[in-house]
Amino acid sequence: MKWSLKTTIFTGCALAVTILATVSGLSYWNTIRLVKTSQEVSDKHKVISEIQELIYLIEAIKNQQERYIVTADQTYFYSYQEKYTLIQRQLDLIEAITQNNPRHQNRIAVLKSLVNDQIDLIEKSMNLRITEGLEPALIFLQTGENQVVNEKIRQLIEQVQTEENRLLEQRTTAAIATTKNMIVAIVLSSIFAVGLVSLAGFILYQDVKKRRDIEEKLRTSEAQFSGIVDLAQDAIISFNQQQEIILFNRSAEHLFGYFAEEVIGQAFEMLLPPNYQVIYHQNIAEFADSTKTSHRTGKEWGEIQGIRKNGSEFPAEASISKLEVNSQQVFTVMLRDITQKKQAEKVLEETNQKLSGWVGELERYNRDLQQISVMSDLLQACVTVEEAYKVITSSLKRLFPHTSGGVFMMSESRHLVEAVVIWGNPESERLFTPNECWALRRGKRHLVEDINTDLLCQHLTSASVPLPVEYACIPMMAQGEAIGILHLSSQEKGKLFHAQKALAETVAEHIALALGNLKLREKLQLQNIRDPLTGLFNRRYLEESLAREIYCAERKKQTLGIIILDVDHFKQFNDTFGHEAGDLLLQELGLVLQTSIRKSDIACRYGGEEFLLMLPETNLETAQERAELLREEVKHINLHYRRQTLGRISISVGVAIFPEHGLTKDAVIRAADEALYRAKKEGRDRVFVASLLRPEE
Ligand code: GH3
Ligand code: MG
Ligand code: MG
Repeated sequence: MKWSLKTTIFTGCALAVTILATVSGLSYWNTIRLVKTSQEVSDKHKVISEIQELIYLIEAIKNQQERYIVTADQTYFYSYQEKYTLIQRQLDLIEAITQNNPRHQNRIAVLKSLVNDQIDLIEKSMNLRITEGLEPALIFLQTGENQVVNEKIRQLIEQVQTEENRLLEQRTTAAIATTKNMIVAIVLSSIFAVGLVSLAGFILYQDVKKRRDIEEKLRTSEAQFSGIVDLAQDAIISFNQQQEIILFNRSAEHLFGYFAEEVIGQAFEMLLPPNYQVIYHQNIAEFADSTKTSHRTGKEWGEIQGIRKNGSEFPAEASISKLEVNSQQVFTVMLRDITQKKQAEKVLEETNQKLSGWVGELERYNRDLQQISVMSDLLQACVTVEEAYKVITSSLKRLFPHTSGGVFMMSESRHLVEAVVIWGNPESERLFTPNECWALRRGKRHLVEDINTDLLCQHLTSASVPLPVEYACIPMMAQGEAIGILHLSSQEKGKLFHAQKALAETVAEHIALALGNLKLREKLQLQNIRDPLTGLFNRRYLEESLAREIYCAERKKQTLGIIILDVDHFKQFNDTFGHEAGDLLLQELGLVLQTSIRKSDIACRYGGEEFLLMLPETNLETAQERAELLREEVKHINLHYRRQTLGRISISVGVAIFPEHGLTKDAVIRAADEALYRAKKEGRDRVFVASLLRPEE
């Protein structure tokens, strides 16, 4: 059984008290006994001493008696009387001090009587001396009576003495025994007490040592604990049920800017911003009332806000745990400043957003590039600007889905700008002058992000439709000059700018290049196939077309008419009215030819003042008829040049039909030409049909 120190001390004390009480009782009893015995011994000594005194007095009185008898000196008699009185007193004294001994009382009574007897005998002897003289007195002294009394007295005194000596011995033995007992008891009790004290000391030493060890361990553990707590990177704050702070480590001091002494005993909520205190109270109440009965519980608070001494707030991650100490709840909150973490998260989030934005932009850029590439390919395949406009419309709709816009082209005269492609509902005039657009005036893109502050182009309509929220006019440059603009507009803020700006410029460049090329090509083509003076097709174009038409006619088993006509005496005309008037005539003639033919027919200037008409799906009769009509019509041409009326002209005409007059283009042209030659030869101003095909042709 292991006793606690308290029980050990209590039991030890009880035992010690019992033993000491017993020893003390015993000692007291022995002391009483010893005192009593000593008193008795003292009494015995007194009795013995007084008896000795009595014996001395009796001997002295006998001596006085004898001296008196011998000397008859009165002095001895007086001395005898004195001694007699003393004997009486001595007997009373002995009687008094032996009161508790009845045997002695009896003996004293007998002794008294014997002493009286002896006194009587002495007095008698003394009287005899006085009366009868020395001799009788001496004889009397020798009498037996005297001897008997003396002997009795001696015996009695001896008895008293013997008994007193015996009693004295008894009392002395008893006193020695008592003293021995006392010594033994004292020694034993001392030994026991010493043993007990030693044991108590040992137990106390052990306990103190144990306590010291525990205290040392506790101190070490406390030092370790406070070391750990202080070294902890997290702020550690403990508070009791009354919410008073009882622990505030170094990290907490750094984090909150308070010294521990400033906050110990203060309410924990002082470390929280006011708007968080309600939540804190709810959380703490909930946590404190939690039915989880485990000794130690933890609950994540998650993210909270802390407030420093200087009033600045910071985000923190916190956890709280509950500990039951002496039936008091102690809460410990661990806090970690996550400002940097939050900032890093924010930066990361922003970076991520940026990255995903960039990725999105890159993806869109890629898509846009693909679209542009597709558009470019398509534009390159276009032969006419009309085709290109269709490609541009569908491409721009895809490239700028959230915007409206259009492609506006500068006219040949460069006086007007006209919409050639439109998608959505752009808030712009469809036709305006170049001066009405800032982009065309400056030769630079014109971006309007805020219509209230930025300069607006005049071609924006403001009548019925609301103005766009933002718009862009990007000039389309080809061969160093603006050939038009790409106009983009949006009714929503932010849809047009950023990535779209660069895209719009790229698109504008591509469109400008493609349209510029097409326009140039068309121009060149026109120059290639048209006669610049009359606007009719030229000979080269005719020959290309004729070959194609003959091929078609051959396949379709159809006929094709060729009419060749030549102005009669044109040299003379020129000579008469001048070369410019000749040109004017040729232009007029070209116009007559152009208006007199069908859409499927081709009129061309074959050379000089010689023209050719190609009439697909036309037989000889019709061709001849048309030739006659033309010859008549030409005669009615009435021109004025420089207030001068020009002379009338006539034409000679040769007609040939494929396949009747020739199976190839060259053969049929040659046949018509020959017919013309014959018409000239026959007098001009007439129509001649080609000769039928010779067998070898
Ligand atoms: P014929 O009746 O035999 O055809 O006589 P002609 O004078 O018409 O024929 P010729 O071949 O002798 O002369 C053709 C003239 O046409 C010569 C030339 O000055 C003129 N001519 C050719 N091309 C043009 C042109 O583009 N403009 C003008 N004004 N004259 C031209
Ligand atoms: Mg000619
Ligand atoms: Mg001629």
